[in-house]
Amino acid sequence: MNNISVIGSGTMGNGIAHVFAQYGHQVTLIDINEKALEKALATIEKNLDRQVAKEKISEADKNKALANITTNTDIAAGVKNADLVVEAATENFEIKKQLFQTMDENAPESAILATNTSSISITRIAAETNRPGQVIGMHFMNPVPVMKLVEVIRGYATTDETTAKVMETSKKLQKVPVEVNDYPGFVANRILMPMINEAIYTLFEGVAGVEEIDTVMKLGMAHPMGPLQLADFIGLDVCLSILRVLHEGFGNQKYAPCPLLVNMVTAGYKGVKTGEGFYKYTPGSKDLVVSEMFKK
Ligand code: NAD
Repeated sequence: MNNISVIGSGTMGNGIAHVFAQYGHQVTLIDINEKALEKALATIEKNLDRQVAKEKISEADKNKALANITTNTDIAAGVKNADLVVEAATENFEIKKQLFQTMDENAPESAILATNTSSISITRIAAETNRPGQVIGMHFMNPVPVMKLVEVIRGYATTDETTAKVMETSKKLQKVPVEVNDYPGFVANRILMPMINEAIYTLFEGVAGVEEIDTVMKLGMAHPMGPLQLADFIGLDVCLSILRVLHEGFGNQKYAPCPLLVNMVTAGYKGVKTGEGFYKYTPGSKDLVVSEMFKK
């Protein structure tokens, strides 16, 4: 699969385009927002520069990768020569539904249509197309150029051939693909989000403070980051919406989001992206400072 179209050039889309371009694919990076495309290209260049500085790639590799990327604001035109489309637009079913219908109408008949969704059912997205056998989840992790895992999610109708092609393509990007089936949260978020929710409940019930909870999990379980810091990094709004998918999808009370999480998101404390969640973030500073809200 040589021609790759990536839809959405935000946090994930620019990383996905970066990795495909680095491994020699022709990449069309598509976004409805021209400014987002400019920002994505600047981010890709900065991240390639970092790889050059670390001597992971040469200056020539960097230039080749950049030359492999073109941009487009027209979805239909941008997918017309694609062997594989990876959709990484905003996490919203209506947006993805529209995009998959446009992709289905305009991409070559043989093209595989993948989504990087964190929580929306692949089967539900596939049902909006006339090629459900060629629709699959390709769940990259953030930051994409660094993280090795690709969770490859088979929808109800995804064929063995589609899965095999996506597994092989992921391996060629030096990633480790893991095949899973399409149930709420897949594997990664089904296990991670209840842990984060339980950490928030532990704080909410006054069992321990923010630093204490994160220190127990870092030093006791060898996690590189505590669950509350990780929740801030992912975005508390994203955590809440994934927990709601799990809660609704399984109809099981054990996934009910902690009321403290709901309150924080409602009040606009969404973690790193808003400058404050369980910790307070000051631009330019790497110090981890607990939010005033949780100081004893
Ligand atoms: P983001 O908000 O950073 O970027 C989304 C981009 O999609 C924006 O540039 C926006 O302009 C563009 N977009 C919106 N509607 C569009 C449309 N109709 N056509 C084309 N482009 C459109 O979001 P993100 O964090 O990169 O997330 C993208 C996807 O990846 C989501 O499905 C999310 O669940 C998933 N994901 C995110 C993470 C993460 O850590 N951020 C990790 C794994 C998966």
